[in-house]
Amino acid sequence: MKRERPVIAIDGPVGAGKSTIARELAREFGFVYLNTGAMYRAVGIAARRAGLKPEEAANDDRLKELLARVRIEFNGERITLDGTDISDQVSAPEVSDLASKFSALRIVRERMRELQRAAGEKGGVVMEGRDIGTVIFPDAEIKFFLEADVEVRAERRFKELSAKGDSITHEEVLRQLIERDRRDRARELAPLKRADDAIVIDSTKLTIAQVVAVMKKHIEQRINSGKALKRA
Ligand code: C5P
Repeated sequence: MKRERPVIAIDGPVGAGKSTIARELAREFGFVYLNTGAMYRAVGIAARRAGLKPEEAANDDRLKELLARVRIEFNGERITLDGTDISDQVSAPEVSDLASKFSALRIVRERMRELQRAAGEKGGVVMEGRDIGTVIFPDAEIKFFLEADVEVRAERRFKELSAKGDSITHEEVLRQLIERDRRDRARELAPLKRADDAIVIDSTKLTIAQVVAVMKKHIEQRINSGKALKRA
């Protein structure tokens, strides 16, 4: 099916600035913003509530049932799981770890792929994650891969968590970030990697506003080049 409006894919490792940038771009173009990492985080929380452990859940029917009925909804900055607001829990470090572990399971990825494709198939969406340009929308009209030096990414994440009142240390944030990236890159299914046709942007020395400006230019070029794509 030909889309009238683009799918904009933004992939990259932890702390590269994907969420803030994707949200801002969506606002600029009047597109929908979808944070797929938050979906995996919600699954992690749901599975934990059900007493499931990632190491043992791969063939557990309870995980299958949970995935079939789980309702993950976004409302502006808020996210709900089966109708309950979980926004204050999703960014906790232990939830990052759960998300990363559950996201390596085939059954989880298949269900998320289904939901994410349904959410983006009509276009007019900025979707961020690890595998959007490679697996979810390999035909996305515009793909970005956002990187930054590991120290800078850890510092950003540390500041984010500190601002939320988390007492985690910088060293611990760095350690967890390296471990999560390693796991996300090494997994068998939909590992974190750059799509061949993605535009690579290194945000190490750029502000959020500068990255947004560079991406905006690329998107506008694509829209103006008449590839049958419209703004909102
Ligand atoms: O983006 P965020 O850090 O919130 O994602 C949490 C975890 O969810 C990642 O570390 C990764 O394991 C998983 N994830 C994924 N595929 C995506 C988005 C997130 O596997 N598209």
